[in-house]
Amino acid sequence: MANEIGFTDHDRLISPIEHAEDFDTESNLRPQRLCDYVGQEKIKENLSIYLEAAKMRGEALDHLLLYGPPGLGKTTLAGIIANEMGVNIRITSGPAIEKPGDLAALLTNLEEGDVLFIDEIHRLSRQIEEVLYPALEDYALDIIIGKGPSAQSIRINLPKFTLVGATTRAGQLSAPLRDRFGVILKLEMYTHEELARIITRSADILGIECEADGALQLAKCSRGTPRIANRLLKRARDFAQVRGNGIITQEIAQDALNRMDIDHLGLDSLDRSVLDAIIRMYSGGPVGLETLAAAIGEEAVTLEDVCEPYLMQIGFLSRTPRGRIVTNLAYQHLGLRSPIQADGQQTLEDF
Ligand code: ADP
Repeated sequence: MANEIGFTDHDRLISPIEHAEDFDTESNLRPQRLCDYVGQEKIKENLSIYLEAAKMRGEALDHLLLYGPPGLGKTTLAGIIANEMGVNIRITSGPAIEKPGDLAALLTNLEEGDVLFIDEIHRLSRQIEEVLYPALEDYALDIIIGKGPSAQSIRINLPKFTLVGATTRAGQLSAPLRDRFGVILKLEMYTHEELARIITRSADILGIECEADGALQLAKCSRGTPRIANRLLKRARDFAQVRGNGIITQEIAQDALNRMDIDHLGLDSLDRSVLDAIIRMYSGGPVGLETLAAAIGEEAVTLEDVCEPYLMQIGFLSRTPRGRIVTNLAYQHLGLRSPIQADGQQTLEDF
């Protein structure tokens, strides 16, 4: 859906959702080994132990659930797990599995130890989940043949495989499905320093000259998300080629960000219009998500998955049972005076 500014989430440069333009380069930029995967230190540490233990036992890794906002590296991590285990990976997503037969076809084509990656696993239907349970617990598929009194159930044994599920919404996963994962890992947003390392690594792979200051400048505006960092790098390269000598310096990076209307915290006009709408139309909140989405002509799911995680992370927005509220920090950022501003409260400089 297009919003009042006339662009869709798909066109947004700082949307963490995958764009068509990401597709060709993402495969080159994805780290293949755990040691090349930047950040998420706790996850890497635990995962390397699970991987080593599974390899020592010669068994498949336990089923694993990854959750966190889009673009943080869930698919990349699933690929790394398969590489480190030396097995194949099959990639699908919750909405793509429509019928039990689709899942059965996927499962029966797996080989011993393979990784099955299901993105957006919270969108699997209950009927499909029912088929998945015995597959996860007993590595078996129960198929009903025929109808009525003559129907027969037959059990097909499956190879021992690892399911890696990914979701942006762990809360929407049904409890029985969640319980079947042996390991649940939450991905955190990346620090500026980690994003700068990702940008420098990607620049090397793509043959782009990027100075450390330039990488840091882009990192600061990447909303804690590697997918956005890589995208900003590619756009800054265009500016460096046309306006500079091909090298991404801090000035070139800053100029590129200004021209893309991305501010120093990585907010674009959609983020600002969300904050602005809550402040001007709802006196700072609380306002319900659906109401807010309708007010700015955006889909609620886009606001929830794309705008909110970062606005909450930087302390501009908070969620309450009665709706969304903007904080003093957001007022300051927009150059507005908060109605509840009091001495001694946090300022943007503290952030
Ligand atoms: P998700 O599945 O969570 O939406 P992806 O795994 O597709 O995210 O990651 C998006 C892009 O970001 C990948 O192409 C990869 O190049 C980059 N990326 C993600 N995480 C990392 C990381 N930890 N280190 C380096 N690059 C990363």
